[in-house]
Amino acid sequence: MTHADPTGRPPRTTIEFYGGLGVIGSSKIVVRHGDSRVQLDMGLDIPNGEDLMAAPVGLGSRHGRELADLLRIGAAPRLPGVYDARWLGDDVADEELMADAAGPHALFISHAHLDHMGLVGFVRPSVPIYATGTTVELLRALAASGEGVLGGVEPDWRVIEFGAPVTVGDLTVQALPVDHDVPGACGFLVTTPEGRIAFTGDLRFHGEEAELSYDFTAAVAGVDVLITEGTALSWEPQGDTPTSERDVVDRFRGALAEASGLVLIALYPRNVGRAMQLALAAREAGRTLVWPGRVAALFARLGWQGIVTWDASRPQACGHLEAVAQAQADGFPVETVSLGEVQAAPERFVVMPDPHDLPSLLDLPLVPGDVLLHSNGQPLGDFDTWWRPFTAWLAKLGVELRFAGSSGHATADDLHAMVERVAPRVVFPIHSFSPRRLQVPSGTRRVIAEYGVRYGLDGEAVPGR
Ligand SMILES: [Zn+2]
Repeated sequence: MTHADPTGRPPRTTIEFYGGLGVIGSSKIVVRHGDSRVQLDMGLDIPNGEDLMAAPVGLGSRHGRELADLLRIGAAPRLPGVYDARWLGDDVADEELMADAAGPHALFISHAHLDHMGLVGFVRPSVPIYATGTTVELLRALAASGEGVLGGVEPDWRVIEFGAPVTVGDLTVQALPVDHDVPGACGFLVTTPEGRIAFTGDLRFHGEEAELSYDFTAAVAGVDVLITEGTALSWEPQGDTPTSERDVVDRFRGALAEASGLVLIALYPRNVGRAMQLALAAREAGRTLVWPGRVAALFARLGWQGIVTWDASRPQACGHLEAVAQAQADGFPVETVSLGEVQAAPERFVVMPDPHDLPSLLDLPLVPGDVLLHSNGQPLGDFDTWWRPFTAWLAKLGVELRFAGSSGHATADDLHAMVERVAPRVVFPIHSFSPRRLQVPSGTRRVIAEYGVRYGLDGEAVPGR
């Protein structure tokens, strides 16, 4: 498919959005110039009440049909020339989806969160997929510990070095590091013959590496188009200062100091930096942090020493023991404790329960008044279908749910300050329930993007497809 202009004018740069519109997550942005095409992110929606594949349904119930099923129910975008035919199925594969991408074409992933990369397993091998070295290392370790792509195959990842331009036909793409709650996160700067487009990915300005996000802001100042995440705009402004990673560790230390028995935590394993801090704090308090098997296998594969999980005295669901055995066989040591050791001395342990095996809480030596510290782990919040059973189980066992989280996303104030400093001609707020809450300085045009519409660098919709 080529897009030569019938009037003979030179090709225009256009931007299309196939997700992240009025929702958090699901980001997919396509930039074209002539027949050159760059796609930024390939995300899944995060589970919410309208996600037909949310628990208890599950995406993986029909092996090999995942993409076809998602397309049938409109939960994956109909991107021509992107998907591998073997995942489409005869009933779904049509000329539009199967079309050959005529020109240079590449996909770039901003970070290792499913709402930015969950569909990568379905991409045809002729489309190279780039991510930063740290992101690739994390995604490979996740795959090896049983937390790989949700369907299709693991991509043959290519590494994009920070700052080094990758040329895709008429377009060049640079990855610029940002601070987010997963290692290796970046935003992108796309340079086209008509101007420059910056995409934030997900970022924050209150984390341990906030200077990365400030440097990103400075590097992209004056771009023609800024595409920004707007997660924090989704809710009424809170007005208070955001919790820092240091506050999280302090609250965890406080909970450990108060507790006389077992302490539970809920942490998102991809937040590797926080996991490391909490494991250290537990050790300082004379406690061992016991991870679910797959999480232990992941951290061991990332090179951590002294990772602890359960031994075979506590069989776990979902292939956890296999993930640990495989990590050990591959030369990544994982230590184990028995259920008996934890039952005998609960005050010497912190346990991260498997959020999807709630009855296994009954194994643990919990007494009313024990605390679960929720630190942005799964289930993520009350929009998550696992939240109600999770809180009901804790209530039944008398376990107090206490929050100690720090968002991976910029506050509304920080987003506004960033847009003011960048001062783009056009800003597209995405990845938000309420993109209209983004206020822009004079001289900047805010455009609320619509699905599949082509926009020029001036923010105007370009007629035709
Ligand atoms: Zn993210």
